[in-house]
Amino acid sequence: DFAVLGHQECWENVYPFIHQVRDAKLRAIPEEDIKYLFPYFPPRSIFRITVHSIQPDKQICGHYIETFLPPDRLDTVFSKENLRKVSEAAICADKLQVPVATLGGFTSIILEGQLNLLPAGLQTQFTTGNTLTAAFIVQSLQDACALLHKDISQSHLLIIGATGDIGSACAGYFLEKAAKLTLAARNRRRLYELSTKLSKCTVQLADSVEESAAEADIIIAVASATNVKLPHVKPGAIIVDAGFPKNIDATALDLRNVHLYFGGMGYVSGGYSFSPDYKQTLYHFPEDNIAHGCVLEAAVLAFENKRESFSQGRGHITSEKMDQISTWARKHGIVPAPFYNHQGLWQ
Ligand code: NDP
Repeated sequence: DFAVLGHQECWENVYPFIHQVRDAKLRAIPEEDIKYLFPYFPPRSIFRITVHSIQPDKQICGHYIETFLPPDRLDTVFSKENLRKVSEAAICADKLQVPVATLGGFTSIILEGQLNLLPAGLQTQFTTGNTLTAAFIVQSLQDACALLHKDISQSHLLIIGATGDIGSACAGYFLEKAAKLTLAARNRRRLYELSTKLSKCTVQLADSVEESAAEADIIIAVASATNVKLPHVKPGAIIVDAGFPKNIDATALDLRNVHLYFGGMGYVSGGYSFSPDYKQTLYHFPEDNIAHGCVLEAAVLAFENKRESFSQGRGHITSEKMDQISTWARKHGIVPAPFYNHQGLWQ
């Protein structure tokens, strides 16, 4: 019914993953050999995913297709080979005859959401999954504000990665809702273009994002970046880190004074399972049934029999589209995940 094109976040995940792909009973391959061989593995379906709706007797099945992108070779110098692997994974989805497939994490970033970079003539429809991810971010942030008695209309909101697909969707959504909106990224031209389009917002270059972070009441981090350090954050601030891998260096935050949680994640009320069971190897969530928004977008489209590229390109996510996909998701019991971070669930 659907497929997910995915990749591993770091080498520490790759080693147990490969061990399980080969067969856990076989002798383990040394880590340096795995690192050498990994880029040569062709993309392929590794396990099946079954997702249960809360509607009676409704469930769908999907394929997890591993792209075997080496986690330390995601930057632009490796674009050509990474694009080739994503294209091979797309062909694999097509051969499996899945109607709709989501481009998880970096597989959509490398394409910049431009699905025309994939091989021509494929029957499978591809989606970036960014609309449901953005919808989960804005919904969960409003819930967090209600829980912590923070009034968004009185708050200064900073978005790190604001010119990206998900960041610009969040900026558009909160523009009229927040007291002040600051947009941060590295590319000055794209920042100014976005601020001109949205008006009323301030911009901040990524290398001095610390200044705005020290004044913000709410921070959404949705950049393709890691180890962003925020040494001075307002006490009581809410920080949503929706990056994959995580954007913010959480060790530099005093979590007794700030509220950090991982955003863009959903919760499948009816449950989901993998066959063979890769949950322990791939997912380190504090509770069962949590999954990435981008993965769940394909599942929701499959439940609704929508064979379409729901999310594509950059900057096309509207509040109406976020409402649409979250209404479909809710129908099947797919809602924003509970609040959690690397220390576990919020109490
Ligand atoms: P895009 O590539 O569209 O946007 C990335 C944004 O990050 C751009 O604004 C870019 O602008 C900015 N950026 C890159 N490096 C830095 C930096 N060092 N400091 C500040 N800003 C930076 O990505 P998406 O919107 O598609 O995805 C954003 C993030 O969300 C990624 O980490 C992705 O993996 C994650 N994601 C999470 C999902 C989930 O289910 N939770 C689903 C899909 C994506 P510039 O280059 O000018 O700096």
